[in-house]
Amino acid sequence: MEKIQMKTPLVEMDGDEMTRILWKMIKDELILPYVDLKTEYYDLGLKHRDETNDQVTIDAANANKKYGVSVKCATITPNAQRVEEYNLHQMWKSPNGTIRAILDGTVFRAPIMIDPIQPVVRNWKKPITIARHAYGDVYRDQEIRVSKPGTATLKFTDEDGRTTEEKIFDFEGKGVLQGLYNKDDSIQSFARSCFNYALDAKQDLWFGAKDTISKKYDHTFKDIFQEIYDQEYKDKFEAAGITYFYSLIDDIVARVIRSEGGMIWACKNYDGDVMSDMVSTAFGSLAMMTSVLVSPDGNYEYEAAHGTVTRHYYKYLKGEKTSTNPIATIFAWTGALAKRGEKDGLEDLQTFAHTLEQACLDTLNAGIMTKDLCALAQGVETKQVDSEQFIQAIKQQLEKLMAA
Ligand code: NAD
Repeated sequence: MEKIQMKTPLVEMDGDEMTRILWKMIKDELILPYVDLKTEYYDLGLKHRDETNDQVTIDAANANKKYGVSVKCATITPNAQRVEEYNLHQMWKSPNGTIRAILDGTVFRAPIMIDPIQPVVRNWKKPITIARHAYGDVYRDQEIRVSKPGTATLKFTDEDGRTTEEKIFDFEGKGVLQGLYNKDDSIQSFARSCFNYALDAKQDLWFGAKDTISKKYDHTFKDIFQEIYDQEYKDKFEAAGITYFYSLIDDIVARVIRSEGGMIWACKNYDGDVMSDMVSTAFGSLAMMTSVLVSPDGNYEYEAAHGTVTRHYYKYLKGEKTSTNPIATIFAWTGALAKRGEKDGLEDLQTFAHTLEQACLDTLNAGIMTKDLCALAQGVETKQVDSEQFIQAIKQQLEKLMAA
């Protein structure tokens, strides 16, 4: 059989621990036999990040900007224990944070739905995608613990030395204070990423904030979204038959719970942090989520939403078989291959990616699954397999579908 050809390389970012083991298995068994894979390889494994003073992460992100599409394996974000374990020169920053800062993007996470795992919310029939603005707000705040009575003010000095000052509160005793910020250009990037993603996915976009209470801060988010929608996206949305809908965050939460799903839900940073955990738990598991970083200038980075599954890796090192779920990592590859195919006009590459996804879903729907999913499955006789057996079962189904 002739292999599917590629034009432009994918930026491949290898990673750590159990996901690095799965990465190789997925490539060897599910991709390389069928695709004449072109990648520009960056080893983001912790050892190599340390050897390169983390330059490899920056190079990988810049390559993503150059070529447009990357696929990333889960990586360790070092803490004190990892510094000792890997004898690191420094406690390197999170690679995801570094890549995000260079690409300036929004993270979209959506559940991969299968018949044996029903969402906890009975009426959810279609996936709900959370689009999280990953910049500013409480994640870049300053806080003061007030220990005695006094007056708190909010003061801004502009570059010409002019000041604007507002009284926040006259404290009559102890209390707490918090200062937050965001930037118009970051909010604009967030809005454009959401509108582009909605057009790509042909799904409605919902956005909720608290503009009635936060009349300047949240209202600015609302206004920027509306302005960009009216000026740049209204016609495209109408042509695609999708809608943009803004409401108060509490109203959006109530509507999402009562809905059938199937929309993209744009969330401010903190809301997205909380809501993405709620949505992923209600749909099943972090190992059954797709995750993609989309930048406003059209760069895509596909990854699994989970970590490096350390506990399984230590078992693997002892020679034990593990039942680690490779689905999110496979879908990172298929997402990246399909996007590469779309950008380069390669239909057979797109078809291959979708067929591989279908093979995964068919295998799972037949009850063949890893341990984490067996515990959640209902209404089907499950067969628990280890990662290798699971990948072989997917491969068999893939070949069946490709031969059909
Ligand atoms: P983790 O996602 O690796 O594991 C959390 C829990 O979920 C564990 O109980 C694990 O067994 C289970 N789990 C996760 N993915 C699974 C899968 N595919 N199959 C079966 N079970 C699965 O997160 P953690 O334990 O908090 O972190 C481990 C390492 O991963 C840390 O070093 C952390 O820095 C890193 N991490 C990386 C990313 C990323 O690169 N995107 C994200 C989170 C954590």
